[in-house]
Amino acid sequence: MLFFDSHSHVNSSYFNDDADEVLRRAINNGVATVLVGTDYKSSKKALDMVSRYHSGIYAAVGLHPDEIFDHHEKINGVDTLVKGELFNADLYQQLGKFPSVVAIGEIGLDYHKPEASIEELKKIKQAQKEVLIKQLVLAVKLKLPVIFHCRQAHDDLIKILEDFRKEYRAYLPTDRAWGVIHCFSATETIAWQYFNLGLVISFTGLITFSQQWDSLIRKMPEDKLLIETDSPFMTPEPYRGRRNEPVLVKYVANRIAQIKNWDIEKLAQLTTTNAKRLFKIN
Ligand SMILES: [Zn+2]
Ligand SMILES: [Zn+2]
Repeated sequence: MLFFDSHSHVNSSYFNDDADEVLRRAINNGVATVLVGTDYKSSKKALDMVSRYHSGIYAAVGLHPDEIFDHHEKINGVDTLVKGELFNADLYQQLGKFPSVVAIGEIGLDYHKPEASIEELKKIKQAQKEVLIKQLVLAVKLKLPVIFHCRQAHDDLIKILEDFRKEYRAYLPTDRAWGVIHCFSATETIAWQYFNLGLVISFTGLITFSQQWDSLIRKMPEDKLLIETDSPFMTPEPYRGRRNEPVLVKYVANRIAQIKNWDIEKLAQLTTTNAKRLFKIN
């Protein structure tokens, strides 16, 4: 049985010591994954790592909305100031041309900035929107699907995607989704707005310790459902508090199978088919 973890960051510094061990463990347990970039360095690293595997490990390249600005990050357990990255379309285009790249991502909007002033937040929002649109255009150019990150910004993201879809309709696929809202944690109404835009949604370990999305999961169309770990974050029950990794996607799958009253095999097969169709993997 194959599980498809549609979103992980085994290419991040959280796995500096044992990335290959973690990916081998995934492969040996029948788990495929997409290594998702958040900046140029991690995007390039995803590509380098993928080249070491025969199959089952894929790459996505993109600039995350939080990486545009200076921010603090834990690197090897040490709180480090990371400089913001200026988006360079040419550099990402070079990466995106490699056949192992299956998506542009993760890109999007993140308005969760509790320390920013109103003026600062205004600037942040504007800059994030500009970088998002540039990357949407790049995805169209490269004919790649998009992995979206969205936190406290769904209204703005939906507005941008509606406009984008109007303008680029002729270039977007009609027989499959053109993007995924990863780590979905919004309302049912918002989920349906994304479905109507031709997108699918992906669930993390969040749903293993909350019942908030049970009703949506029960009702939503089968072909719009993906699963992911978002490793090293969003660790599912019963491993909460530990670093997450792709093999643990089984716990997300189990929880959904339980909600839908399905065999785990059916859930695994369906979500794998959906992920492969989105990322155009044979
Ligand atoms: Zn994200
Ligand atoms: Zn992520």
